[in-house]
Amino acid sequence: MQTVKHKILVLSGKGGVGKSTFASQLAFALAGKDKQVGLLDIDICGPSIPKMLGLEGQEIHQSNLGWSPVYVEDNLGVMSIGFMLPDPDEAVIWRGPRKNGLIKQFLKDVYWGELDYLIVDAPPGTSDEHISIAQYLKATSVDGAIVVTTPQDVSIIDVRKEINFCQKVGIPVLGVVENMSGLLQPLSSLKFKSITINGDEEDVTAAVLQEIQRSSNLLQSVYTYSEVFYASSGGAEKMAKDMKVPFLGRVPLDPGLSRAAEEGRSCFSDGSCKLSASYLNSIIGKI
Ligand code: ADP
Repeated sequence: MQTVKHKILVLSGKGGVGKSTFASQLAFALAGKDKQVGLLDIDICGPSIPKMLGLEGQEIHQSNLGWSPVYVEDNLGVMSIGFMLPDPDEAVIWRGPRKNGLIKQFLKDVYWGELDYLIVDAPPGTSDEHISIAQYLKATSVDGAIVVTTPQDVSIIDVRKEINFCQKVGIPVLGVVENMSGLLQPLSSLKFKSITINGDEEDVTAAVLQEIQRSSNLLQSVYTYSEVFYASSGGAEKMAKDMKVPFLGRVPLDPGLSRAAEEGRSCFSDGSCKLSASYLNSIIGKI
């Protein structure tokens, strides 16, 4: 761990809120900025990182320096129990001490080399894995944790516990991300001039919007969030303010991002999720 400059833990109170999606896209984004990145999946009972990085079926190799991560690119290495299971459907039924042992091994026996960032994707909640990783990372100085939630109260209530956990074990909270924040739709009031083509009056709004989509800087300004869940709008931001931790931003519900995650691709190099990539980029810029 001495050769790792920054260590970031990605946490959530509940499962299914997009924590692994965020962790994997964060790793892709940093690697895309030419950083040397490691992504460690300590969700021992439900490892989804191999699939989200397009590395299903890969195996870990042992060298005289230790276990070698599985590489997506030269500067993006991944480690997960998912690489050790003979069958992806196999259930890992381990008690705490065995899980702690594996996490310790992941931190001590993996030859990560020189890393700018180690991103750790933890399971949801505050269980054995969290206590172990908090202890090990704190001993080698951790930058902090990013906590991912969806807008609903049921998720936000658990995130409060997650933040309390971090404060109790002395891990700084880098900030809260609200994922699946709402559906983005083009501003309905947005209307560009009509033009006459071959004598017919044509509304060019759709064409202009499409053109704007090509240039990601302008993207966010022409879309608005519509609520999807029964949730108080801006709930995560309000909770972050209450708990005196930074709010890093929102990520929309985006079929393009879901597809990139399912297919193990970066959404930053994929034209179909430009909009969520622009939201993720502004969050990553604040970390
Ligand atoms: P967690 O790690 O919190 O259990 P995942 O990252 O596995 O959650 O995400 C759960 C599912 O939601 C995945 O199928 C993922 O593709 C999808 N998902 C996550 N974030 C988004 C988003 N912003 N828009 C659309 N689908 C998303």
